[in-house]
Amino acid sequence: MARPSYDVVIVGGGPSGSSTAMFLKKNGVNNVLLIDKARFPRDKICGDAFSGKSVGIAKELGILKDFGKVPNEGVYGVIFSSPKGTIIDIPFPGSERKTQTKPGFVVKRINGDNVIFQNAKKMVDTLEDFTVTDLILENDFVAGVKGKTKDGKEAEIRAKIVVGADGTSSVVAQKVGQGILPPEHQVIATRGYYKGVTGMTGNIELHFVNEIMPGYFWIFPLDNGWANVGLGVLTSEKQKRKLDLKKTQEEIIANNALFKERFKDAKIDEQGIKIWTLPLASHHRKNHGNGWVLVGDAASLIDPFSGEGVGNALTSGKFAAKHIAEALKKGDVSEKSFDIYDKELWDTIGPEIKTSYNLQKLGTKKWLLNFVIDKAAKKPKVRAAISGMLANEEAKKETISPLGLLKLILT
Ligand SMILES: Cc1cc2nc3c(=O)[nH]c(=O)nc-3n(C[C@H](O)[C@H](O)[C@H](O)COP(=O)(O)OP(=O)(O)OC[C@H]3O[C@@H](n4cnc5c(N)ncnc54)[C@H](O)[C@@H]3O)c2cc1C
Repeated sequence: MARPSYDVVIVGGGPSGSSTAMFLKKNGVNNVLLIDKARFPRDKICGDAFSGKSVGIAKELGILKDFGKVPNEGVYGVIFSSPKGTIIDIPFPGSERKTQTKPGFVVKRINGDNVIFQNAKKMVDTLEDFTVTDLILENDFVAGVKGKTKDGKEAEIRAKIVVGADGTSSVVAQKVGQGILPPEHQVIATRGYYKGVTGMTGNIELHFVNEIMPGYFWIFPLDNGWANVGLGVLTSEKQKRKLDLKKTQEEIIANNALFKERFKDAKIDEQGIKIWTLPLASHHRKNHGNGWVLVGDAASLIDPFSGEGVGNALTSGKFAAKHIAEALKKGDVSEKSFDIYDKELWDTIGPEIKTSYNLQKLGTKKWLLNFVIDKAAKKPKVRAAISGMLANEEAKKETISPLGLLKLILT
């Protein structure tokens, strides 16, 4: 099947691929094809939390208002519980509950990703139901993709630059030799949609329960009485302890003193509990080369403490598009043209990733979590510092290091 050739082919129409497409258009690149193996709307296993960082980029793209047209639930703060069961409730800074603009929200990815993809579709060519299986390589440069349609028709599509935005199991990353991620830099996590969980507050909930330590169990509020419920743990830990994550989730819901009453009448939907992997940014993956660039999960950009990945997926799309546009203008799509993409991306997200990786390591110690959450329950200053770390990117970057937090706790 003959197809036209493009300046840029983007493999994957999730948040990273669709944002790359939209930012390319904004940077004056018009000859772009956005490919996905699925047809939108499509599901994606996720906690469905759309953070302040994601809201910021959606605003910049001019698509935030479109999220208002699909079911979503505002998030105004976060609840933590410690392994011994102390609970703290931390409102996001400046968020007067439910009276002002939502600082973040929870939106099922089947709806949220469709908002982003349909906006991208208005700006670039798209091809759904097409699975990329390989890359075209010429003179040490990636020069396009090979793949097949749903009914098995094979095709090759040529491009000056291929963007790998194809998620955790990225074919593009694998084909350029970047597919392997050590288990200590991956999280494996569950997701189930439950109706009728009681005690929901409009906050997201992260619970450091004994059953999944080190790791956490979450309950995120969705619209219409639904909740997104899951748990995550480092893949290395799951392997070591031979954990059955579905069983662990069912046990927490049925037996843990904090939750058994709240889930007494709750029902899971027909999809049941699903499992997927999160590639963490604690591993700085090589993200560019001759004729290729990786963004989002394909570039392993998920926050190693919170598990948040959509914000960095959208951010990487923005930086990749800027530097792809410049490379095309210069007529040089070699690896060195994209060094600046890696630099700008990691100068921006690197400090917060470092903080989160330190927090992840602190979070493996039960006694420390008990201690910190007990102190936070008693000290408003500690709660305010945690609130800043979670909601305010500047605070996370500069003001509050884990040591700074410790000092606040001890004084
Ligand atoms: C259980 C779980 C909970 C999470 N919770 C949160 C959360 O609450 N908040 C948050 O911000 N992040 C969360 N994350 C992380 C978040 O889901 C990812 O970081 C985010 O989806 C990355 O976006 P992406 O566009 O890079 O990849 P994806 O969203 O995975 O999109 C990749 C796209 O590529 C397509 N594709 C794949 N292979 C091919 C191929 N060969 N050919 C063509 N198309 C292909 C797929 O169909 C898909 O549409 C969670 C992840 C998991 C697993």
